[in-house]
Amino acid sequence: MDKTLTGRTALVTGSTSGIGLGIAQLFAEAGAKVMLNGFGKPEEIARARAEVGAAMGVAEAPYSAADLSKADAVKQMIAEAEAALGSVDILVNNAGIQFVAPIDEFPDARFEAIMAINFASNWYAIKAALPGMKARNWGRIINVASAHGLVASPNKSAYVSAKHAVVGLTKTVAIEVAQTPITCNAICPGFVRTPLAEAQLPALAKQYGVSEEVALKQHLLEHQPSKRWIEVDEVAQMALYLCGPGSGGVTGAALSIDGGWLAN
Ligand code: NAD
Repeated sequence: MDKTLTGRTALVTGSTSGIGLGIAQLFAEAGAKVMLNGFGKPEEIARARAEVGAAMGVAEAPYSAADLSKADAVKQMIAEAEAALGSVDILVNNAGIQFVAPIDEFPDARFEAIMAINFASNWYAIKAALPGMKARNWGRIINVASAHGLVASPNKSAYVSAKHAVVGLTKTVAIEVAQTPITCNAICPGFVRTPLAEAQLPALAKQYGVSEEVALKQHLLEHQPSKRWIEVDEVAQMALYLCGPGSGGVTGAALSIDGGWLAN
């Protein structure tokens, strides 16, 4: 594949699984030096580091264990990445969690964790990484938001609020640096085939007394007209485009990749 990211460095948060791992892998294949972050079993983290490292031509990709629910850990992670990679040219704020309940039954601790990980960590990471991007006069910031950064669904008050905040943050940062070669964009996926998302199917099938296929098309993908999962690689390709040649005029955008959800 084209090595369009040769000479670039990238930090991808929440990259031990799912969308973040897919982005990290594709960026490494495109020639970037990538640092991983996220939780998981030691063997899962080791496998992710080895896979992404192989694409970089090293035994293991650098990794930060930062817990992004804590502001100090986010700042420390940016410092670690700058030390390990020499710079953070590309910052992908991807880590996220979900919890679903009506607002009057929503535990405060879950609300606070979602706001901290899904939103505040993006704010602290951008604040810490931007001075280096300005000094080098180039940068790409990609915030993995969600279709839920643009529309709501019931029982997701914390997640929808955090993702809308991410879209607002994206627009603000974009216009603050619009006269520099630094861009800031949000990617807004619909339902993406990740282990986390697929794991919802058995419970949905049971709840509605239907097969997992019916649960997928009629319930999980109720608002996704394509009636198919978005694949991790499709999201990763959109992220790669935002870092590649010709993307410098795209900034402050909330780019949907949702099988038509927002058009519906
Ligand atoms: P995932 O659970 O596979 O990955 C989440 C990653 O975040 C993991 O690496 C996990 O270890 C990490 N993480 C969680 N809490 C963390 C913390 N406190 N500190 C550091 N890392 C932490 O989920 P995914 O489906 O790949 O989701 C990735 C992003 O995409 C999230 O922001 C999610 O909201 C968003 N998204 C997902 C979908 C979907 O359908 N899968 C749709 C739209 C948006």
